[in-house]
Order: sequence, then structure tokens, then C-alpha cells
Amino acid sequence: MNYVICHYSEIGLKGKNRNLFEERLVFNIESVLPDEFFEWVKRPEGRVVVKLTDEAEKSEVEDGLRKVFGLAYFSFAKKTESDLEKIKKETVGLLSKKSFSPRSFRVTTKRSDKSFPHDSPEVSKKIGAAVVENFNWEVDLENFDLNVHLEITDEGSYIYFKKIRGYGGLPVYSSGKAMLLLSGGIDSPVAGFKMMKRGLGLDYVHFHAYPLLSDDSIKKCEKIFEVLKNYSPEGKLFLIPFGELQKKIKLEIPEKFRIIFYRRAMLEIAAEIAQSRSAFGLVTGESLGQVSSQTLPNMRATEQAADLPVLRPLVGENKEEIVSVAKEIGTYEISILPDQDCCTLFNPRRPETKANLEEVLELDKNLDVENLKEKAIKNKRVLT
Ligand code: ATP
Ligand code: MG
Repeated sequence: MNYVICHYSEIGLKGKNRNLFEERLVFNIESVLPDEFFEWVKRPEGRVVVKLTDEAEKSEVEDGLRKVFGLAYFSFAKKTESDLEKIKKETVGLLSKKSFSPRSFRVTTKRSDKSFPHDSPEVSKKIGAAVVENFNWEVDLENFDLNVHLEITDEGSYIYFKKIRGYGGLPVYSSGKAMLLLSGGIDSPVAGFKMMKRGLGLDYVHFHAYPLLSDDSIKKCEKIFEVLKNYSPEGKLFLIPFGELQKKIKLEIPEKFRIIFYRRAMLEIAAEIAQSRSAFGLVTGESLGQVSSQTLPNMRATEQAADLPVLRPLVGENKEEIVSVAKEIGTYEISILPDQDCCTLFNPRRPETKANLEEVLELDKNLDVENLKEKAIKNKRVLT
């Protein structure tokens, strides 16, 4: 079983993009697998095939490929010549090595090589008959314990028994690039995961108030960055000192508008860094009504400061749904570690929930924080 057959379900924007989509998928597969685990990754018609080396650790290959967006499912497979007798012999040989004995089975054949002289139903019947003859298992097309999959392609035939599900979606970077605002909380890593699943490559930006506050949130973001990198090894984490700006906002802006102005500054800085990285969108973990800053008027009053579209993939999700994804992808345990979020610094007791954009813009006119923003960007720390 030293081949992996990978299938995708969705091709971004179809048509001419199919080629780009497949190339990106191949590139992403190559980047999650250690070099010594594979000889090549190719894309014969409609699928991607990986030839593994003898050193390949199957469990590591499985873990890696599960994290490649765009894959609907994949299977470890044995390759043989496209010849009915050879397929029969290999299938029986593989099944005799199996440790369990199914009560019932079926054969499912896909023939993409139309020059192969037998059609799919005929292949299934013939291989099925050979299995019955050798093992005496019952054929059941509906309720089977084992499905023998055969794929007959023009560069050989593949035999496999198990489909491993991927997340589907689109290969990372096939939809371009965006900047994720990463807070260290539960929501933003999940927002990043969801957008990567739709084919966005990510850079990350975290605003912290170190040394006014501890560096706990920075450490958390570094750990979350490591987890999210498993889905896309490229991408950088920008750590931005935000304390000075917050102090200035605290002095100049009425208490109830503080959070809105913190967020406006964050979005503005994030957009500036994003554009320097050819990233043309921002991603946040906001969910409608979850906290006072996440009302519709407040979202409008904050996003107006950004030059780029603000994507909020969690806007319609409930907290439990977000938590369950965070647990699945392994960021939850990091996110719940205690920290001192920079937004707790000089936090208002009663934040505005229905910010009026005109009022916000009026306050913004008299707020001079340009040089502090430039200074924050200049003093950034960048991790890869
Ligand atoms: P999270 O769980 O992601 O922290 P939250 O529910 O705590 O989100 P808020 O604190 O209102 O919500 O933040 C909303 C969004 O703003 C976050 O999901 C994140 O995208 C962004 N954000 C907030 N604080 C920061 C920060 N310090 N650095 C970068 N982005 C931030
Ligand atoms: Mg938070």
C-alpha cells in the first residue's frame, strides 16, 4: 500500500482555474509531508496520487493529509497493472493479509481509462466472484462490512479498502491571502481555520500591551500560530506593541467609545501590514452579539477604519459550535490559558453597544495617533 490516492470534491471557480487549483493542491501536499516520506506527487486525470517511500510513517502521512484543505478523502492504495488477472491476484493477496474477516463485502470500481476492455460493473462482478471463491464472504451492495475499491486509470490500477475523510474546501492560497487578527482567545483561531478551508493563505497579527501587561498573550499566540501552521506552513506572525496607543486613546476618547477606537487602530494597522504582504483582506473572530463590541453598529463603526474587507466567518455561529471546532483543531486548550488581553487595559465599565458612525468619525478627526501607529508598526516583531 505505498500509494495514496487523493480525491477532491470542489474546484475553486472551475474552468481555467482547475489547473491552478490542482497545482496548488499538489504543492500543499508536498509541503505537509516530510521529503523522505514520498517519491513524487502527480495529478493524473481528476485525482492526485502520492508515491510513498518505504520510510513513510503511515500515521504521520494520514495526520498531514487530513490537514490539507481541498481533499475530500484519500486512501492508502496498492498499485498494479491495469490487467484483470493481475487486479484479481493483488486483491485476493491483499485481502488474505487482512486481520479481520468481514461478514459481507462489495466491490466498487471506477474506470477512468476508457480503453480498458471491461466496464466498471463487469470488473466489480469478476473481482467479487474471485473474492467469494477465495474467502466465501457474502456480497451485499447495501450493508457491507468491507468495500473493495478499484480505480482503473491509464497509468495503472489502484486497490484500496478505506476512505479517510478530509475537510474538503479549497487548497490554501488558491483564494489568495489575508491577515488574521489573532487575539489569543478561542474565536480568532477558529475564524482562521475556516478561512483557510476556503482557500485563503494567512498571515497573523497580534496586538499586545507588553511590557505594561505580561507577555502571556504573546506566548499563547505563538503556540496557536504553530498549530495553525500545520494547515499552511507559509505565513508570518506579526507582534505589535499596542500599549502606547491604548494610553493615548484612553486620554483622548470618551470611555464608552474606547473599545471601538482600540479596534479601529488594530484594523488600520493590520490593513497596512496586510497590504505590504499582498494580502487583500482581514479576518476576525467576531460573532454577532457575543459581546458588546460585536453589535452591527459597532462592527460598522470599527470596520470603516480599515482599507480592506473585514471577513468574519464566525458571525453566524454559536459559541458551542466555535468551541467544538477549537477543540477539534487543538487550539482550545491554548486559548483558555489565562492571559492579560490588551483590551482589558483601561477597559470601559459600560461600553457603547450602538456606536453612531458620525459621532465616531467626529472623535476620530481630533485624534492624532498617526505617529504612534507608525511607531507600533516599526517596533513589530515578526515570527516565521
Ligand atoms: P477571541 O476569542 O478571538 O479573542 P472575542 O470573542 O474575545 O474573540 P473580542 O475580544 O471582541 O472577541 O475580539 C474580536 C476580534 O477582534 C477577535 O476575534 C480578534 O480577531 C480581534 N482581536 C481582539 N483583540 C485582539 C488582539 N489583541 N490582537 C489581535 N486581534 C484582536
Ligand atoms: Mg478575546
